[in-house]
Amino acid sequence: MRRSKANAQLGKRHDMLREIAATESFSAAPGGPYSRAAEALEAMQRIREGTYGTCADCGGRIPAARLQAKPEATRCVRCQVERERNTAA
Ligand SMILES: [Zn+2]
Repeated sequence: MRRSKANAQLGKRHDMLREIAATESFSAAPGGPYSRAAEALEAMQRIREGTYGTCADCGGRIPAARLQAKPEATRCVRCQVERERNTAA
């Protein structure tokens, strides 16, 4: 079976996300550790679907620098700011 370099990198990222999900304690508090673990699990699902690195809201590319800083990010910076502004009110 032939594996591309990109797939190998995604596999590595997958492990990193699994680590985040495993080490975060599960708490039902809104905005607490649970939501971060849920985001990590969602990111794993997106890797499997091949949509990882694509913004869930606008469909645009999430910058690689953002994914390195926050591997579980599912939105581009613009949409994340927009979302936080809407939920903070
Ligand atoms: Zn976006």
